[in-house]
This record gives sequence, structure tokens and C-alpha cells, in this order.
Amino acid sequence: MTLELLQAQAQNCTACRLAEGRTRVVFGEGNPDANLMIVGEGPGEEEDKTGRPFVGKAGQLLNRILEAAGIPREEVYITNIVKCRPPQNRAPLPDEAKICTDKWLLKQIELIAPQIIVPLGAVAAEFFLGEKVSITKVRGKWYEWHGIKVFPMFHPAYLLRNPSRAPGSPKHLTWLDIQEVKRALDALPPKERRPVKAVSQEPLF
Ligand code: URA
Repeated sequence: MTLELLQAQAQNCTACRLAEGRTRVVFGEGNPDANLMIVGEGPGEEEDKTGRPFVGKAGQLLNRILEAAGIPREEVYITNIVKCRPPQNRAPLPDEAKICTDKWLLKQIELIAPQIIVPLGAVAAEFFLGEKVSITKVRGKWYEWHGIKVFPMFHPAYLLRNPSRAPGSPKHLTWLDIQEVKRALDALPPKERRPVKAVSQEPLF
């Protein structure tokens, strides 16, 4: 299995109800050998139109956050918990998230084998932490998931609604967080091209 083949398969996915309302499947994009994977919640309107993750307003803010820390977007792999846009941008339902991550995200992680994963927002953080979380409590801390370092951060859409840059504000905390991610990236040993141990529940072939 390759990432390209997996992506091609995902284009025809009808495994959950989100398939009915989508224009494009938003599988993910970026460096297939990335050390850092960023995982959002699900496609919004722009992403649904273009088939690319994080290209709308929140995506443009994500670009600025990455750039400010000196992390080139093209070196990262960016994807979402669900690959199809939920109606009215609602949060994905638990069954949608479970079906989609079992089918696609777990395999993307196996194939890319990132050393660091940054979930953006509570929905993505919950997937890696295995329980309902308050993003305010879990952001800016290191966790481990199947041997991969996980560092949740605020979702950029939340930052758009909270534009203050005052000390202690979500934007200020995000600036500290992304610098911590950059330090951790710079400190990584050379990547071993061995996929992480089976995290997917289905065969990879
Ligand atoms: N918000 C997300 O969570 N993902 C995207 O791809 C765009 C906006």
C-alpha cells in the first residue's frame, strides 16, 4: 500500500453519511515522509470545494502560524479526522469519526510514520487522547500515542474568534506552543523509515 493508492481509494468512500453532502473528499496533503503531522477536525466550505485541507480562513491563519515558527507548510503533512465536510460545518459525530479514522487516518499515520502529531482542537485531541477533553486543559502538553509524540494545540478557527494577542490569550499561548513544536522538531533524531506498529484495525493491503 502507498499513500497515493490510499488517497485514490478514499475518493470513492461511501462508508458514512458525510459522503452524501460532500463535493470533494479532502484526504490530506503535504510531505509523505513528514516528521510532523497536523490533524484538524474536518473540511469546511473552501476545503470541500478545492479538495485541499486548511485552505480557508482558518487554513490561512495556520499558514501564518507555521511560517512564524519557521516550519514550511510543505514539509508537514496536514489532514483531518473526517475527510468529508459535515453539514453546516457541525462537528463530526462519534460514529463518523470512528468510521473515517479506522478507514483512513490510521493508515495515513502508518504510511507517513510522523514522529510528532499536532491535533488542532478538541475533536482531534480526543482521538489521540482517547477521551473527551477540554482543549484549554490539554493544549501545550506532550502526550504519547502508539510511540508517537502528540502535542494538542488550539484550532485556528478558535483563534479567529479570539483575536486578542494579550499574554495568556489563546493566540499568545499558540505562539508559545508552535515554538515548542519547532524546538521538538529540531531535536528529533533522523527519521527511521519503519512504520509504527500496527495501529489500524484492518489489513494494509
Ligand atoms: N478546519 C479543519 O478542521 N480542517 C480543515 O481542513 C479546515 C478547517
